[in-house]
Amino acid sequence: MLESILKRARTGNVTVGLPAGDLPALFRGMPVIGDAFRSGNVASMCARVCATDAIDPEKKTIDLGRCVFCGLCEEACGGEGIRFSRDPRLPSGKREHLVLGGQEFSPLAAATGIRSLLGRSLHLREVSAGGCNGCDLEAQALGNPIFDLQRFGIDFVASPRHADGLLVTGPVSKNMREALVKTYEAIAEPRIVIAIGACSASGGIFRGSYAVEDGVGNVLPVDLFIPGCPPHPLTLLYAILGFLGRPPE
Ligand code: SF4
Repeated sequence: MLESILKRARTGNVTVGLPAGDLPALFRGMPVIGDAFRSGNVASMCARVCATDAIDPEKKTIDLGRCVFCGLCEEACGGEGIRFSRDPRLPSGKREHLVLGGQEFSPLAAATGIRSLLGRSLHLREVSAGGCNGCDLEAQALGNPIFDLQRFGIDFVASPRHADGLLVTGPVSKNMREALVKTYEAIAEPRIVIAIGACSASGGIFRGSYAVEDGVGNVLPVDLFIPGCPPHPLTLLYAILGFLGRPPE
């Protein structure tokens, strides 16, 4: 017992405050679109290396709903076209808000009326719908002492009957479709759906496969998309708190 107390004293408080700093080196954050991307053939150069067709060279846009944050476009364009910052605050909201063209954007969609009903509390049932489990691991990390999701009144629950909404990862495999829909229907209305990661937004690297539904939006009405592959827990925190109308200052 004494050993535990001493260890706790030595460790100190590890919980990150918000707003937090940059993402760690292994994660890419908010892409910065350079002027070169919008002129000449730089966008085409970037698009050629993109395995998920996230870059539209005609419209000069990058779709964060498809992007897996591999960074190959940054290398191909020499950083002139697209540069990935370490900013964990990625745009989230409706699916179309994830398509960036260098325009000014509001980081969050206008929240639905359900927000006022939720108040300062949100209970989510998570469903892993056929992805690689990378997003599940980051969502699970929200509960550790570093990110401490519960301090915000947000938590995961075991039963959809106790939940205000669903948090879904993965492209929705055909085999998981029925389970996902049944879980959604077991949640009392009004209910929300949060889709995290590229797979849940567009199918990600599985897009077009015979075995998937190409994203949660093709199965359920989604209230909040959070991009990433996987999104860092800080990105998830910013997006969910913003959706609840409580963005960190
Ligand atoms: S970082 Fe995104 S946009 Fe760039 S090449 Fe990779 S998947 Fe495509």
